[in-house]
Amino acid sequence: HHRTNVSLNELLTDVCTLMQSQARLNEVEIKVLLGKQNMFIECDKSQMKQAFINIIKNAIEVMEQGGEIEVRAHVENSNVVIDIQDEGPGIPDQLLDKIQEPFFTTKENGTGLGLMITNQIIENHSGDIQIISKELEKGTLFRVTLPRT
Ligand code: ADP
Ligand code: MG
Repeated sequence: HHRTNVSLNELLTDVCTLMQSQARLNEVEIKVLLGKQNMFIECDKSQMKQAFINIIKNAIEVMEQGGEIEVRAHVENSNVVIDIQDEGPGIPDQLLDKIQEPFFTTKENGTGLGLMITNQIIENHSGDIQIISKELEKGTLFRVTLPRT
């Protein structure tokens, strides 16, 4: 695959722009909160976009009553940390492991492949995903950690 040095701010802004029209249909507002400091990651740009699209798409889909998605990024030692926080229904403890498995979906027309693909892409880039969520407690946080350049 084709890896280049990519501006994280640019990548996240691009992804959120791509998702705007779907967000608007659900009355979801995507807020991108990025510092002035530009962060760079060595990555396959289109794959990495896909990884974040899958997370944000899920967040939009679970917020049927509308709400806000916050996308933040910061530097932590030799990594960048990207937080995607939604205001959806949260994920029950007993489903937290399951949702990462291929073909697990709670949606009528879901494929259950989005998170598996995201996991694979992040793993291929030596990164890591943490999901912080409790059922019925102000939504879910997807925290992606990736090595920075
Ligand atoms: P799909 O979107 O096709 O269902 P995914 O792999 O993208 O497949 O997601 C699997 C499941 O994980 C979803 O069906 C949903 O139950 C759960 N999920 C993913 N993201 C969230 C989220 N932000 N809030 C609540 N549940 C989520
Ligand atoms: Mg999905």
